Amino acid sequence: MKKINLTDLYEDKGCLSEYDPNSLSYNKAILYLEQLIQPIKKTKKISIEDAEGYILAKDVKSSINVPNYDNSAMDGYVFRHQSLKKNNNKVKLFGKILAGHPVDSNKTSNVCFKIMTGGMIPKGFDTVIPQELVKIDNDFICFDFQPKKGANIRKTGEDISKNEIALKKGTYINPLHIGLLASLGISQIKVFEHLKIGFFSTGDEVVQLGEKIKPGQVYDSNRYLIKSFIHKMNLHFNDYGNLSDNKPKLEKQLKKASEENDLIITTGGVSVGEADYMKEVLSNIGKVLFWKMSIKPGRPMAFGKIKKSFYFGLPGNPVSAAVTFLQFVKPSIKLMMGNSRFEPTPTLEAKLGQKIIRKKGRTEFIRAHLKKTVKGYHVKPLAQQGSGMLKSMSDANCFIFMAEKEEVLEKNTNVKVILFDGLI
Ligand code: AMP
Ligand code: MG
Repeated sequence: MKKINLTDLYEDKGCLSEYDPNSLSYNKAILYLEQLIQPIKKTKKISIEDAEGYILAKDVKSSINVPNYDNSAMDGYVFRHQSLKKNNNKVKLFGKILAGHPVDSNKTSNVCFKIMTGGMIPKGFDTVIPQELVKIDNDFICFDFQPKKGANIRKTGEDISKNEIALKKGTYINPLHIGLLASLGISQIKVFEHLKIGFFSTGDEVVQLGEKIKPGQVYDSNRYLIKSFIHKMNLHFNDYGNLSDNKPKLEKQLKKASEENDLIITTGGVSVGEADYMKEVLSNIGKVLFWKMSIKPGRPMAFGKIKKSFYFGLPGNPVSAAVTFLQFVKPSIKLMMGNSRFEPTPTLEAKLGQKIIRKKGRTEFIRAHLKKTVKGYHVKPLAQQGSGMLKSMSDANCFIFMAEKEEVLEKNTNVKVILFDGLI
């Protein structure tokens, strides 16, 4: 597929034959997002304690060996392997080595030390046997098998060697990475700056919490939904509240938000209804890069650019807003933050509990419930699949993933499942 870039899109609309901004397949939308989104360049130094959720802006090299000394992997006894032959697997016990308390082995020969896990292997010693396999006979240890030379010793640098790259630029930092950095003695790292993310919901019918709801109105669930997704990513959320369906007001707010943020997200008003203005407003002040996708739920989703900031106009229906956020916005945020690629959502296979028939043509995310049984994983779609029904989404624990071309998923066949755990 031809590589596209923003300049092509701005300047040469006609030449991109396979790029149809009015109806993109799920896979193409991902591909284009990967090509169009540039990471923000600003970096900063931070303490590793605050680094979770940031993206590494520079490779991290280790300046030490880990472990930085040969040490015992067991509570046991350490000796020179050659001592065994001389003493017929009976070795004199000379002393004790605790972790953090190395001993001098210079004047020892044909002896062993009791050694604790993490204890430093004395110079010239090369083998450890676990204490469970040893009999004590006065001042001697004895055993009735031939241990392998080098057994149960963690060698210097076997985890990471000095000057090796421990973490690559573009790594999305999680607690394991933080532990690894600490094991290297690194307290500060260079990361990409967090994005500034601005948000507003739209709709004349949308009312705020604390207000009394009248017939014809809905509470603003989207603003809270998207806000907590953003907070879960440890990112700051510039909240511009809710706007009514008023074109000049929407345009003014979108323009302001684009000047103050790297990314703007809105919900509602991207469809083809009479009061759906977001696409028009976007094209007045920026560029619509695409706005319809063959996915369900969430067909209308505007993606565009206003000066330097990117824009996602999510559908108003809360489930569609959630799905488009998780499938497109969240990975795009990570791309903007410096993640090296659009992370595909991990799937697992599960046996389908009931047949699913539908009209093909859209990638579909079916709310479902996954259960582990003695026979493996079983998944069942939930009865309610309306794109406004947040209850069934919050009852679900996974999506069944249906590819564009699939029409039927047979009962008892293996289907692809995306777990909410890890996704949300
Ligand atoms: P729209 O995309 O603006 O046509 O809205 C589609 C549906 O989503 C309508 O039923 C709206 O009432 C509903 N909706 C829009 N915005 C919100 C919101 N912030 N919270 C909850 N529902 C909303
Ligand atoms: Mg609306």
